[in-house]
Amino acid sequence: MDFKFGEKEGKLRKEIREFAKKELPPNWLSVMFEEEHRDEDWEFAMSISKKLSEKGWLTMSWPEEYGGKGASLWEQLAYSEEASYWGIPGTTMGVGGVDWVGPSLMMFGTDELKKKHLPLIASGDADGVWCTGYSEPNAGSDFASIRTRAVRDGDEYVINGQKIWTSAAHRSRWCWLAVKTDIDAPKKHKGISVFAVDMKTEGITVRPLLNYVGYHIFNEVFFDDVRVPATNLVGEENRGWYQLMHSLGYERGSVAGRGYGYNKRILDELIMYCRENHLFDEPAIRNGLADLSIEIETQKMLAYETIYKMSKGGVPIYEPSRDKVFNDHILEHMAFIGTGILGGYAQIDPMNRKSRWSKLKGCIENLYWLFPGISLAAGTDEVELNIIGQYGLNLPKSY
Ligand SMILES: Cc1cc2nc3c(=O)[nH]c(=O)nc-3n(C[C@H](O)[C@H](O)[C@H](O)COP(=O)(O)OP(=O)(O)OC[C@H]3O[C@@H](n4cnc5c(N)ncnc54)[C@H](O)[C@@H]3O)c2cc1C
Repeated sequence: MDFKFGEKEGKLRKEIREFAKKELPPNWLSVMFEEEHRDEDWEFAMSISKKLSEKGWLTMSWPEEYGGKGASLWEQLAYSEEASYWGIPGTTMGVGGVDWVGPSLMMFGTDELKKKHLPLIASGDADGVWCTGYSEPNAGSDFASIRTRAVRDGDEYVINGQKIWTSAAHRSRWCWLAVKTDIDAPKKHKGISVFAVDMKTEGITVRPLLNYVGYHIFNEVFFDDVRVPATNLVGEENRGWYQLMHSLGYERGSVAGRGYGYNKRILDELIMYCRENHLFDEPAIRNGLADLSIEIETQKMLAYETIYKMSKGGVPIYEPSRDKVFNDHILEHMAFIGTGILGGYAQIDPMNRKSRWSKLKGCIENLYWLFPGISLAAGTDEVELNIIGQYGLNLPKSY
């Protein structure tokens, strides 16, 4: 691997730091999932998202014709690292529009879909916010077992079924929806298709699903005779499985790419907290922080390797799964070390983190509660490890 950040990336990092300083409240620290949960945080994130778009940063590596700047993947990476480090909200608005719906549309969408949706996503506007409809009550890891059906009726498809755990469905204008279009296909993954569905269409009901902390992040989404124009089919009918494997790769890759900036910031905050409170005499704390720093630097190198492969025209197959599993591992480790450092202060209810006793804006207790969920989203760690075994190590397929 050969990589080098040049003057361009250095200038960009500086501009992003200045942007963060100007646009964010003093001592800002991002707290996971706050944007989805609370209206005021969502609105703030949307306003920042618009500014990021005006700067041309939101989708900087996209081609100019679709609202991007044609920037290199290395510039995009520098942006992601820096923006995540400073906790700039709104960088991933729409839980997927920027990171996986846009890139997937570029690969598989018709010209009509590309022309309509890509500039909307790039604009940072509310109409460019997407949720992702994959999981169902009886189909999570076993994704190919989805039962939500789309049946062709003239120029439309009629959709019936239910999705679950749909993050930000209550905030989204569009849904990136996986459905069954052929229930008699000889293999179940062969009868799947993908649709762009307007969440304002009649027949769609979004019901909140609070997580165990009480956050409203995800939802149940019901489809009752929802009529979608046939032109909203993405790619070929019944070939959705292959497209979705690409979309999931983009999704997993994005989690890992942003992970380094976020994790490094939390580590730096913990070090500062220990310094201010003279906590370094405790070997468990010193060792824990040193361990974390090794993991976070390793994470950076793994993410760079993935980007390097892409910059040479390669398609990462197992690498996004590897990067995501490693990020999950770091989050867990950081949650344990962080709660150990904060002691009793880490026991504050994450919903009450604006308490005057809460340290580091409550991000450690928040992380402690939420890391298990993060290790499930976009494919559980076990599923990711199976992918690494099969595609990275050439082991036989696991069932
Ligand atoms: C925070 C969060 C956000 C989410 N957002 C979305 C979203 O926006 N859209 C969406 O569609 N879904 C979303 N999900 C759902 C997520 O994709 C599923 O929870 C995940 O795919 C697991 O499916 P499941 O919950 O049905 O668990 P199951 O698939 O029932 O798995 C249960 C357990 O069995 C293990 N397991 C299952 N199969 C295997 C196997 N073959 N080998 C080894 N172990 C196995 C799993 O690892 C897990 O530990 C979200 C979940 C969370 C927690």
